[in-house]
Amino acid sequence: MITLTNNALQILRDRYLLKDKNRNVLETPEQMFRRVARFVASAEEDNIKWETKFFELMSKLEFLPNSPTLMNAGVIKGQLSACFVLPVKDSLEDIFSTLKNSALIHQSGGGTGFNFSELRPKGDWVTSSGGTSSGPVAFMKIYDAATEYVKQGGKRRGANMGILNINHPDIEEFINSKSDDRIIQNFNISVGITDDFMKAVQKDLYWDLINPRTKTIAKTIKALHLWENIVQQAWKTGDPGLVFLDIINAYNPLPDSGKIQSTNPCGEVPLLDYESCNLGSINLSKLVIVSSNTPRINWVKLADLIAVSIRFLDNIISVNHYLLPEIEAITKAHRKIGLGVMGWAELLIQLEIPYASDEAVQLAEKLMNFIKENSYKASSQLAKEKGAFPQWGNSHYLNDIKLRNATCNSIAPTGTISVIANTSYSIEPLFALAYDRVGILGGKTQTEMNSLFVQKMNVSGLWNQKLKKEILEHGSLDNIDLVPDEVKKLFKTSLEIPWRYHLLHQKAFQKYTDNAVSKTVNLPENATITDVSEIYYTAWKYQLKGITTYRYGSKDRQVLQKCNLN
Ligand code: ADP
Repeated sequence: MITLTNNALQILRDRYLLKDKNRNVLETPEQMFRRVARFVASAEEDNIKWETKFFELMSKLEFLPNSPTLMNAGVIKGQLSACFVLPVKDSLEDIFSTLKNSALIHQSGGGTGFNFSELRPKGDWVTSSGGTSSGPVAFMKIYDAATEYVKQGGKRRGANMGILNINHPDIEEFINSKSDDRIIQNFNISVGITDDFMKAVQKDLYWDLINPRTKTIAKTIKALHLWENIVQQAWKTGDPGLVFLDIINAYNPLPDSGKIQSTNPCGEVPLLDYESCNLGSINLSKLVIVSSNTPRINWVKLADLIAVSIRFLDNIISVNHYLLPEIEAITKAHRKIGLGVMGWAELLIQLEIPYASDEAVQLAEKLMNFIKENSYKASSQLAKEKGAFPQWGNSHYLNDIKLRNATCNSIAPTGTISVIANTSYSIEPLFALAYDRVGILGGKTQTEMNSLFVQKMNVSGLWNQKLKKEILEHGSLDNIDLVPDEVKKLFKTSLEIPWRYHLLHQKAFQKYTDNAVSKTVNLPENATITDVSEIYYTAWKYQLKGITTYRYGSKDRQVLQKCNLN
């Protein structure tokens, strides 16, 4: 028996379960998991054994793969990956062929990342027409409009990451490009930051903007001026975020294959041009055992889940349908996968550790270290059994053990799969104790209450209608006298958690994640521009690969934001 919440059932029926032409649902959730398990196990010699294991993993909601795998596995020409990066070269032909390819990826449920920095700036000379170029921001608007109209057969609106490097002549236009809330809605945008730029900001130096076509200086501007522009816009609208290109490339496992210029839409996977990656997340809220009243993590079970999940994700590379030969070639050469987690906040609550505590941060490191070690162990076992990834000989792993996968871990936002698994998003704190979950693509809105909190209050005999009403009104426990202090501490929600703890959690997970961590530092409405500046600066100091903030109420809607305070 699979236990799913009403919300999960609704999402599955709306967008995941197979349907016929008349939109009649053709399968139950159990049959969906069976379809996925069977298809993913078809890569195995002993497919029956692995089908059983994969089915168990998913139907117990202990692990879920990214959405395209659930939607498309076993379907003819089913595309199973969530993350892609495509090149944007400086010619009209290349710009539009990449646009076509990204439309195909969106149609299949995948998201695309692009770095637009190779494009000549606005107003620059175009030899073939004798005219002038429209520049990267104009082309982003075209990509955005295309995304808007390819709504993936009603399943999901496409998601994009758009990056422009800090030394591009159009960087100021880019930084301000989302200040109108209606423009470039289907993009998360990030500035590609280098260590040199950060040092120029520190020392208040001038900074050169370089024309990528001529390689000459187009303009010189104070680095601090650009920085202030970035943080002011980020404070106002949430965009742009930052991606730290030097640290990303310092950890590029395949430097001979090229420089990494972009990540996927939510930032958790830095990828080379045409690379794709499959993600999956372990549900940490299913891992607590209570013996003699002390809750603790079941490490043995976790190790087992990791081994099976890594195998699952690796199999997807073998059975996937690739939309382009370029994607197939490089994806199969590197076999990158990204196993991550969801339900971290709920795990902490079960262990009675407040999110905003050093104990939680230490546990984050210990946990992710364990996941990394076991992921690499599983990948090297697979290498023995099935062979290392073909480019292993050119990777920086050469002196180490052979691996099946060039990367193993990513912390994805788990925007939908955590709802299916009925747990908290990714490594995020609880967003609120009571909230409206807004259906995407115009679906119904449902009011929900955090079930761990209700359980806790029930056990202490404190749960009643009055309390429920107060929480629905406030969304948090701040001013509610009925609730004991230690419970208040444990159930602190995202906006009540000091930003430093948001970053410390991201740092702790990043330390043992070979890809990257997608995390939003949620800020209360009264956070200041200086706060955002300090957060962005600290993110660089902490050697994070990227940073995103969102100040409550600063935007009407957000690509991946699915819930609002009541
Ligand atoms: P899910 O929970 O649906 O598996 P996540 O929220 O964890 O997905 O996002 C993982 C990645 O999937 C994102 O970084 C992005 O690459 C891709 N993605 C997420 N949402 C969308 C979307 N609406 N359209 C296209 N790709 C998406």
